[in-house]
Amino acid sequence: KGAALVAAVAQRLTSLRRQVGLMTLSLFRLKEEQLQLVKARMRSGLDAGLRSKSSSTIKMLPSFVYLTPDGTERGKYLALDLGGTNFRALLVRFKKQTSRLYHKIYTIPLEIMQGTGEELFDHLAQCVCDFLDYMGLKNTRLPAGFTFSFPCEQSAIDTGTLVAWTKGFKATDSEGHDVVSMLREAIKRRNDIDLDIVALINDTVGTMMSCAHEDQRCEIGMIAGTGTNLCYMEELKNIEKIEQRMCINTEWGGLGDDGCLDDIITLYDTEVDQNSINQGKQRFEKMTSGMYLGEVVRQVLLDLTRRGLLFKGHVSETLKTPGIFETKYLSQIESDRLALLQVRSILQQLGLHGTCHDSIIVKHVCLVVSRRAAQLCGAGMAAVVDKIRENRGLDHLDIAVGVDGSLYKLHPHFSQVLKETVRVMAPQCDVTFQPSEEGSGKGAALIAAVARRKRDV
Ligand code: BGC
Ligand code: MG
Repeated sequence: KGAALVAAVAQRLTSLRRQVGLMTLSLFRLKEEQLQLVKARMRSGLDAGLRSKSSSTIKMLPSFVYLTPDGTERGKYLALDLGGTNFRALLVRFKKQTSRLYHKIYTIPLEIMQGTGEELFDHLAQCVCDFLDYMGLKNTRLPAGFTFSFPCEQSAIDTGTLVAWTKGFKATDSEGHDVVSMLREAIKRRNDIDLDIVALINDTVGTMMSCAHEDQRCEIGMIAGTGTNLCYMEELKNIEKIEQRMCINTEWGGLGDDGCLDDIITLYDTEVDQNSINQGKQRFEKMTSGMYLGEVVRQVLLDLTRRGLLFKGHVSETLKTPGIFETKYLSQIESDRLALLQVRSILQQLGLHGTCHDSIIVKHVCLVVSRRAAQLCGAGMAAVVDKIRENRGLDHLDIAVGVDGSLYKLHPHFSQVLKETVRVMAPQCDVTFQPSEEGSGKGAALIAAVARRKRDV
């Protein structure tokens, strides 16, 4: 009788534990009403940012890109692309309607990402020099577009001060400085190459431009990668009293920095924010982009393990290691094609040894975290397309989005969930997503071409 009682208690405990686990996961499941709230908050953030930058968490930075490419772009351009994790130098040649591209990727060591601004820009100049040397172009002066994937307050197409570093960057003496001048000065210090930097470009803007080259309807650019952001063509009459459109870099990753998302932010998100190098900043980005999703997953796994629901309650050193769950592992774990044993073996390779049952739980956690990310981006996108539709006084808007980033391109479900959410939440808009090919490279070259055309007339 005693043994039966013990067994019953044990069973009850197991089911209680399971409920705790389910409750944890349900924190990530957003109801439609919640997504509607996110959409509304994104909308007020966009509007507030247009009215006055200082009082809004959504910066709405002017890009000084007015024109979409018209297919007449010709010639050779350099594109320099400082993204989330590496630096790429590209040579883009436009000939008739086609373009050719050569590039080289350079990694940026952590100590440079987080050293001084001068060291960082010296490093970039060094990479540019190496690339020109490699391409046999060291003695030419090519027009260059500089894709710089961080928020910059631009006052012209070729100047912009860095508002704040995001993602993994923290180089000193850069915030508040003009990043084009910093690059020019670094090149001057070397005194062995010459560059004509004609445009400073956010990666979203480059992505939009490169897709607009193929499809005239493309008036939005979106990145779902290491970081997240979106730009779109805004009516200038909403900014100044001119009948023209300018591309606005929204920096939507800042949504929630005033606490407006606190009702959906979980303790795990808070933990991730606390451990980041920019606490309290980019709260939306930290729930939706590649650099952080794995960390959110890890925080949940840590908690479930501490409560004895996972890995036999054993908190391993691996589990305590920040950054172990890179986006590529999330993508692999969530792939429908993988059998559970394969998931288990991925986890084992990461140093997380567990049963098949553990693998099911881990996969589940990954699924809810990435689904929430895609839904949040979908709600944000719905706000943007409805705003554009209203701007133009339309009942129905047909629009295309150029999109890039590892999460969008490589994750097995993200793009699907994103599209589905936009479809449901913006029923008056038909939104086509176009994965960009070489967005920031080709786009930067196109913008450089347009900028030079304008300068030369
Ligand atoms: C930056 C944006 C950028 C996005 C995607 C964010 O962290 O603030 O400027 O577009 O990442 O790279
Ligand atoms: Mg990039």
